[in-house]
Amino acid sequence: MTDRTYQSRRTAGLTNGRVSFWYDQIGLPERGEALPGDRTADVCIVGAGLTGLWTAYHLATHRPDLRIVMLEKEFAGYGASGRNGGWLSAELAGNLDRYAASGGRDGVLRLVRAMEGAVDDVIAVCAEEGIDADIVKNGVLHVARSEPQLARMDASLAAHRAWGIGEWHERRLTRREVHERVRIEGALGAVYSPHCARVQPAKLVQGIAAAVRRKGVTIYEDTEVTAIEPGRAVTQRGVVRAEHVLRCLEGYTASVQGRRREWLPMNSSMVATEPLPDDIWAELGWDGAELVGDAANAYSYAQRTADGRIAIGGRGVPYRYGSRTDADGITQAWTVESLAAILHSQFPATADVPLARAWCGVLGVPRDWCASVSLDPRTGLGWAGGYVGSGLTTTNLAGRTLADLVLRRDTDLVTLPWTNRRVRRWEPEPLRWLGVRSMYLLYREADRREAAGLRRPSRITRFANLLTGR
Ligand SMILES: Cc1cc2nc3c(=O)[nH]c(=O)nc-3n(C[C@H](O)[C@H](O)[C@H](O)COP(=O)(O)OP(=O)(O)OC[C@H]3O[C@@H](n4cnc5c(N)ncnc54)[C@H](O)[C@@H]3O)c2cc1C
Repeated sequence: MTDRTYQSRRTAGLTNGRVSFWYDQIGLPERGEALPGDRTADVCIVGAGLTGLWTAYHLATHRPDLRIVMLEKEFAGYGASGRNGGWLSAELAGNLDRYAASGGRDGVLRLVRAMEGAVDDVIAVCAEEGIDADIVKNGVLHVARSEPQLARMDASLAAHRAWGIGEWHERRLTRREVHERVRIEGALGAVYSPHCARVQPAKLVQGIAAAVRRKGVTIYEDTEVTAIEPGRAVTQRGVVRAEHVLRCLEGYTASVQGRRREWLPMNSSMVATEPLPDDIWAELGWDGAELVGDAANAYSYAQRTADGRIAIGGRGVPYRYGSRTDADGITQAWTVESLAAILHSQFPATADVPLARAWCGVLGVPRDWCASVSLDPRTGLGWAGGYVGSGLTTTNLAGRTLADLVLRRDTDLVTLPWTNRRVRRWEPEPLRWLGVRSMYLLYREADRREAAGLRRPSRITRFANLLTGR
């Protein structure tokens, strides 16, 4: 599909792309100055999404004298940071065993606590910097809508309990308790965590970008970095030389020379309805700002927006061959239709509410599906990402950690078990395309069978995960 709007019965008049719905509410920003030629700095940060911005924010807070330059291909907040579902949650990407391999049980628990703290840190900085990002911390519900989903959810909760992650982090809700919060069709139970806030992503990232600029950091926009080497970042407009060069590109990492197989750019797509009338909100019983997701293999995530819409996201086409990324957030027509179907299945009362917007973006997936933050003291090169769709809060933890690593601060943060992990690269094409595509085809088949009345989690899921090492 090349145009930005298309017509179908459910989605007549829907606008697709144009970065994201969140920018409709505040307007796309004017682009700032591009790199005017060669420059020298103390720290050069490549990519002005939330990872780069939080890093710059904390570096400049600790050391106002540092010369910090950020290089951004489009505008600050153009990527996933300005397009996401607005789940500011304490969820951490990947498998706890893999973090434990470098930090042990205690390390895992410290990481879980650090993620909880990061949710509150974002909220505190917003208050301090006067950023109004529609933030409301009412928690998150992961809702099971079939017996296999319930069994999978309970198994995951039991595994967390075995790690020592208790009710302070998340707890089981009965069907009645779910309905007291949000009436989701077919809900059998849920896991609820209080450690999650609803956020308007574009307001958040633009607010942090403004705060970073106020602290004296220079953000050059319209400046694409083509290569990152020890001591320098190369662009067609000039070279920035710095002792530390930090790669903060998440889903766009493959666009830089030599990094094609590092983190796989996974797509996620979203749709937003027109505002719902009061009687429908009353029927849904969704009075607060809880975030709501399901427990399907190809899961969905939703928020009630501050202006009374439902914005819901899910996978769609998981991955484009050759690690390509979208054009300005345009997603496929069939993805819009499938998100509409999920919306109407979870909330039948919305069946006649038109969809207003659709968009997509990319997030970064490492080969072991676990996030990392690293700095090589020999080369001065650093990076953070691979949050696998749980990046909104993790970027904050990553930014604070990268800043401490650069400044050689001896803090608890730099000893968390996701620091300085080394992860092997993805396979060359067509293997990674075949692997990820097959995994999601199998997930869909598993979800279809589970929805059709299977009584236990489909075994296909385990096979799908084996395919890609998830
Ligand atoms: C649709 C969607 C929904 C999501 N929902 C959630 C959610 O609800 N909760 C959650 O926790 N996470 C969510 N995520 C994930 C989360 O948004 C990301 O993990 C996080 O925003 C990553 O931030 P980042 O700064 O690392 O990357 P990005 O925000 O992607 O920033 C990277 C920046 O680098 C720039 N860039 C790209 N190439 C170059 C280059 N060569 N040179 C210079 N600059 C370049 C880009 O323009 C971009 O601004 C979602 C992601 C998507 C796509």
